[in-house]
Amino acid sequence: MKIIGIGRNYAKHIKELGNKDLGDPVVFLKPDSAILRNNDSFYIPEYTKDVHHEVEIVVKICKVGKDIAPEFAHTYYREMALGIDFTARDLQSKYKKEGLPWTLAKGFNGSAPISNFVPVTEFGNIQNVNFSLKKNGELVQKGNTAEMLYPIDQLVCFVSRYMTLKKGDLIYTGTPEGVGPVQMGDRLQGFIEDKKFMDFEVR
Ligand code: MG
Repeated sequence: MKIIGIGRNYAKHIKELGNKDLGDPVVFLKPDSAILRNNDSFYIPEYTKDVHHEVEIVVKICKVGKDIAPEFAHTYYREMALGIDFTARDLQSKYKKEGLPWTLAKGFNGSAPISNFVPVTEFGNIQNVNFSLKKNGELVQKGNTAEMLYPIDQLVCFVSRYMTLKKGDLIYTGTPEGVGPVQMGDRLQGFIEDKKFMDFEVR
């Protein structure tokens, strides 16, 4: 199973980090060891002083696909979840400056919390779904999938041109603005529309 991360998919988030849209989705990978399930606590690793939360809508690939045509893209995912793409921003900045891969900044243990999955139709059109994150009870991130620069079908097509998608692969579809640091003792709660999907502690 592979975890595919999409960067720079929401305009206001691109702006807050001072990045630019490159004209194609930014794609990175996390290892399966990054997954954190069942609201397990997230432990901040000792090699970073600046872990940021990035709340994202996640889709699960349901069949093998390669070079997927746009009109069939929607048939390759049937379930969605809420996820956090934890990012060691200090490591990422260091590697970005040198033009080096972000792998360690994105793929460390526990960097991919994931909620339970629901059908993609649960909230109507998956490209018009509100999602949000609260830190210690305070709203810190809020987005709507309609704001994606590259909608999910387009992500599925794009990625499948380079990497064969397999059943069970996850796509973290990018984060809206409001990313910020987490600290030991923080409580994170994630929502799709008004339904709570995640509730866990940072240790
Ligand atoms: Mg992200």
